[in-house]
Amino acid sequence: MEKRSTELFAEAIKYIPGGVNSPVRACASVDSTPLFIDHAKGSKITSVDGVEYIDFVESWGPMLLGHAHPEVTEAIIAAVKRGASFGAPCPDEITLAKKVCAALPSVEMVRMVSSGTEATMSALRLARGFTGRKKMIKFDGGYHGHGDAFLASAGSGVATFSIPGTPGVPDAVVSETLIAPYNDLQAVEDHFKRYPDDIAALFVEPCGGNMGLILPEPGFLQGLRDLCSKYGALLVFDEVITGFRVSYNGAQGHFGIKPDLTTLGKIIGGGMPVGAFGGRREIMEKLAPVGPVYQAGTLSGNPVAMASGIATLNILEKSDYAALAARVEKFCASLETIFAKKGIPVCINRIASMFTIFLTGEKVRNFASAKTSNAALTSKLFKGLRERGVNVAPSGFEVAMVSFAHTDEDFARTLAAFDDIKL
Ligand SMILES: *Cc1c(COP(=O)(O)O)cnc(C)c1O
Repeated sequence: MEKRSTELFAEAIKYIPGGVNSPVRACASVDSTPLFIDHAKGSKITSVDGVEYIDFVESWGPMLLGHAHPEVTEAIIAAVKRGASFGAPCPDEITLAKKVCAALPSVEMVRMVSSGTEATMSALRLARGFTGRKKMIKFDGGYHGHGDAFLASAGSGVATFSIPGTPGVPDAVVSETLIAPYNDLQAVEDHFKRYPDDIAALFVEPCGGNMGLILPEPGFLQGLRDLCSKYGALLVFDEVITGFRVSYNGAQGHFGIKPDLTTLGKIIGGGMPVGAFGGRREIMEKLAPVGPVYQAGTLSGNPVAMASGIATLNILEKSDYAALAARVEKFCASLETIFAKKGIPVCINRIASMFTIFLTGEKVRNFASAKTSNAALTSKLFKGLRERGVNVAPSGFEVAMVSFAHTDEDFARTLAAFDDIKL
């Protein structure tokens, strides 16, 4: 059932480190090897072995409309026929920028880049350039792409200066990165009290999406807004996952909080490589060529990617987010019943079209509680689901993504698979 995938993986590891071009695709932590994909359509992906899976990864988020949506595919083909890249402005850049500004309450101007990582790195530089300050706060377990400054993890306890999370990142770079536990306003305030004039920006995923799904507790995001305003730091919402997913108006529209800067990626490219960062005009106009903060990109605003993003947002604009959220809620409630029947404690966090099953009796509200999830059981669950035609992320610290293409039958089959697995 996975013969060809296994052969290809053996070939891939000879030429590509770990056989994958992004580490999250490796399945080693769940004691498996990656599926190689031949094609995907709607809610399904099909491996090179010809096996079809109900997909809850969705390319890690971009495919909210499902795979290979006909209108998006047509827009991409039409654009590429006009030329794959110009390195000069094209009208679609304005169209997509306008759509982003119209959708996100806090965004007056936006710059396109080619990935979420580029968006967050650029937003950090801009925040530092705008405020003339060096330090940054991020949350334990928060992911903002693989830029050096973001690859810091907290030491034990309330570490003030973080340690490099990876070799290759100089201490000097991450020493300006301060860490706080998610949902812990006091820890954030302590940083601000200690460095009242030094913090340029606070980066937060308005719903934590990279330690599994962690929801902001009531008052948390507003508290961050207030602290940033009080101390003159920029509040940056990393909406690379939540933008156009939690609502068409992002998490900021859903929770009614206005950040100073917003970073985007994933959905705005509809599967093509796109990222973006935007915010208040006075901040954005510090960017080159208007202002002194340099940032550039050969393929930024790429015409094929813009066409894909526009087609995706055109459809999402008319899509019924509330109905999808209600279906996901019902699905998660059924999952809770199944786990209760099995006698296995779970905490299933969910919002809009995302959820994470934490195999723990604890209420998961930050990275520390997320880590109480049972890794051995997660691995067993991953394998059991794959054997039953359901594709989920190969880690307990990821979000399961649902698309508008997922049918009631997909949900029913997925529930039956969960029910069937002996844990
Ligand atoms: C995926 C992700 C990124 C990085 O985006 P890439 O396109 O993978 O570089 C940044 N922030 C968040 C919240 C993400 O989920």
